[in-house]
Amino acid sequence: MAVRRISIFGATGSIGQNTIDLIARAPGNYDVVALTGGRNVAQLAEDARRLGAEIAVTAYDEDGPALREALAGSGVEAAAGRAAILEAADRPADWVMSAIVGAAGLEPGLRALGQGAALALANKESMVCAGALMLAAARQGQGRILPVDSEHSAVFQALIGEDIAAVERVIITASGGAFRDWPLEALANATPAEAATHPNWDMGQRITIDSASMFNKALELIETKEFFGIKPEQIEAVVHPESLIHALVGFRDGALMAHVGPPDMRHAIGFALHWPERRELPVARLDLAALGQLNFRRACETRWPALRLAREVMVAGGLSGAIFNAAKETALDGFIEGRIGFTRMAPVVEEVLSKLSAHPSLNHAAFTLDTVLEADHLARITANEIMTT
Ligand code: NAD
Ligand code: MG
Repeated sequence: MAVRRISIFGATGSIGQNTIDLIARAPGNYDVVALTGGRNVAQLAEDARRLGAEIAVTAYDEDGPALREALAGSGVEAAAGRAAILEAADRPADWVMSAIVGAAGLEPGLRALGQGAALALANKESMVCAGALMLAAARQGQGRILPVDSEHSAVFQALIGEDIAAVERVIITASGGAFRDWPLEALANATPAEAATHPNWDMGQRITIDSASMFNKALELIETKEFFGIKPEQIEAVVHPESLIHALVGFRDGALMAHVGPPDMRHAIGFALHWPERRELPVARLDLAALGQLNFRRACETRWPALRLAREVMVAGGLSGAIFNAAKETALDGFIEGRIGFTRMAPVVEEVLSKLSAHPSLNHAAFTLDTVLEADHLARITANEIMTT
């Protein structure tokens, strides 16, 4: 088997570390091109040395000296800053993991697709902000996007050998997050620490809080529409507390194909890494009789208004995904920093959407990387204004 050139963007995060876990099990199969991270320079340097990466890049200029020092004598190049991340994405690679959190992952992913890499996409935000640009970049670069979000990997797998025209509906599951069983009136006083615990998955802080608010599922509904080209009314979310079924695809003959597995991201990452083959992966095997039962509940839009907003965004299309995501990221910062309460996040996002839907520079704007970045920028300013008044 030919050695594959791979890069990992967001290597120090939860998805990045799970990806490294898989790579490190078969080091002879991979040449590591670039690893990128943020503030955790020690982890980045350690992994870059261990995997013999060509280059390690921290997103922040001020962390450059520490990274250079940590890599001195290792033969690994060190670089820092946004431009260095984008340059690293231009380095030819066969397979690239996109696991930066937030809209910051969009451009590196586009660049990697542009140079022809297969892009393993954990960064759902890039599909939400600019799905059409991502798909076009994949076509132009003759690369392809392999979904890593567990629900989308599940749908992708359920569709193998199927005709997309025979799909009637797609159902993605949601654990319900930290506050699934909390009384509604308690949510207003929920703290970031309480929101950052997840019943089933071990993930980064931001996506874990987004699971409690269901903004994560909201992003995933939009991601489903963008990635698979399915109509909004064919996509639904259902609460499934066990997180063992990740998604189901319903076909026109009434059959539902479900993807079932333990909540371990190494499954979806490994599937994308080895696609189109299936190889052995170090994930637990389920004992169904020991589990006994699986449960499902309707996802309540009063408890989780983010789901209603996602539906509006799916119908509106255009730049509304980029506005929605940036407003959400800013409201999430506001919640983490103690500037707004947990239940203020959705109203802030809703107000940004309604304010910017009539904004002169966004209304009827063409859909390009520039207008997506402009929409992102204006949404962050608007969300901050709303949170300070
Ligand atoms: P994380 O916070 O654990 O890691 C994020 C990574 O991105 C880190 O390496 C960090 O240094 C880097 N980063 C942060 N801001 C950056 C910036 N401005 N520029 C460059 N790099 C930056 O996050 P995570 O949980 O691993 O999630 C990563 C992505 O994968 C997110 O889009 C998330 O929604 C998605 N995802 C995660 C999981 C999961 O199980 N963790 C599951 C599905 C999808
Ligand atoms: Mg997911």
